[in-house]
Amino acid sequence: MQLVSTRNSQYRLEASQAVMRGIAPDGGLFVPDHFPDLGDLSRFTKMSYCETAADVLSMFFSDINGLGDITAKAYAAFDCEETAPVVKTGSGEFMMELWHGPTLAFKDMALSVLPRLMTAVLNAQGGKNVLILVATSGDTGKAALEGFCDVDRTKIVVFYPNDGVSEMQRLQMVTQGGSNTYVAAVNGNFDDTQTGVKEIFTDEKFAEIIGEKGYRFSSANSINFGRLAPQIAYYVWAYADLMRKGEITKGERINFVVPTGNFGNILAAYYAKQMGLPVKKLVCASNRNNVLTDFFRKGDYSLERDFYKTMSPSMDILISSNLERLLFELAVRDDQKVRDMMDGLKSGGAYAVGSDALKSLEEDFYADWCSEEETMQAIRKTFNEKGYLLDTHTAVAMHVYEKYRAVDPDTKTVIVSTASPYKFPAEVLASLGEDITDLDTYMLAEKLCEVSGTQMPCQLVAMRDKPQRFTDVYEKQDMREAVMKTL
Ligand SMILES: *Cc1c(COP(=O)(O)O)cnc(C)c1O
Repeated sequence: MQLVSTRNSQYRLEASQAVMRGIAPDGGLFVPDHFPDLGDLSRFTKMSYCETAADVLSMFFSDINGLGDITAKAYAAFDCEETAPVVKTGSGEFMMELWHGPTLAFKDMALSVLPRLMTAVLNAQGGKNVLILVATSGDTGKAALEGFCDVDRTKIVVFYPNDGVSEMQRLQMVTQGGSNTYVAAVNGNFDDTQTGVKEIFTDEKFAEIIGEKGYRFSSANSINFGRLAPQIAYYVWAYADLMRKGEITKGERINFVVPTGNFGNILAAYYAKQMGLPVKKLVCASNRNNVLTDFFRKGDYSLERDFYKTMSPSMDILISSNLERLLFELAVRDDQKVRDMMDGLKSGGAYAVGSDALKSLEEDFYADWCSEEETMQAIRKTFNEKGYLLDTHTAVAMHVYEKYRAVDPDTKTVIVSTASPYKFPAEVLASLGEDITDLDTYMLAEKLCEVSGTQMPCQLVAMRDKPQRFTDVYEKQDMREAVMKTL
């Protein structure tokens, strides 16, 4: 399968090569040149999660051998056999739990697979080994470390802002194992850290230096097609699982509700629909940073707004990068239109789609948002009424679903649960009305166990006993030293 750039549809690459590149040279994102057809969905009801994922990946990466082996290894570290369990929480209401991986959040679903795709491409086609650089505000860094840990022909260096991550996130990263991993703190904020990484990426002299040592830089960020493709699989899996359990009949259309930030997760659902999955509405749930709600309602995207730090930090965004892939479809694959919109965003901080596009958006999507107070209420109410414990991101989705259900009460709906409540124990406990003063990360997790009667994830228990391996702190102008240290 070939992919094309959203900003130049003449520019094409084999999907496997696009994964190594990350982003197109013109700044566009790689998208499939056509959508493959899932075919008869019954066959997926006989497959395990890993088999489903390998089947979906094979529609894009027909030139990569051993996809079954890749997905089996990728998901071996997950804490449950189903990988992404679909749990019934009400009449016609289901939770798909995407947080049974090593970091307790949904980024593991793709970041467990991407490094193994890269190694397979290198082994088959040759080329330099890959050195992954990540600047993280918390979650992505840890998920990438876990994904690349001890994967052949790769090394990974993660930088985090010294005072910009939570204690839980810091502990997750500095206790990372693996012989090809390195984590460093940077004196500065997230912007400093990200700017430092971008400078290294574009420093040609430095690229030569690491080239002599047999490495080239690559990135694992969420616009890489190698992160999008594995995410399509869990939508197919959820649908097949509901068929298997007799909750839906083949062809019955269902809704998915997705707590959204960079638009990667919900875009994968949209792709699954294009590939033939019977989806009625995709419900795009935002927190107080509700730029997407406005876009879906009015058809214009504007950066002229305040940025808020919320209790669902992985959804705190102003620029939702993956939306560009949806714009390309809305523009009926007219790359000139996409270039115009992206230029508008860069120069004027805004763009708009036409009325035809807005109509087609309304066919596929419903969008709404949830305030901080409503997020806490959703956690409390869902726990009290259903005995189900939500994290702060999934709570946003639950609140928006309850609003949407008023207009569509009968369609069976899967709420996509993106993090374990144990990843955000302070906020979850506070939502339940508990006192959290003077409790450290582990004490909070223990208290959450007691209060909710749920089990502490084994990933957290294991972390407690691990040594803190990485203690180096760099000034932002010295970040290259950290890279050199790993070679
Ligand atoms: C990254 C993340 C999201 C947002 O996903 P996008 O693909 O960026 O829309 C939601 N919830 C959690 C827990 C996340 O880590």
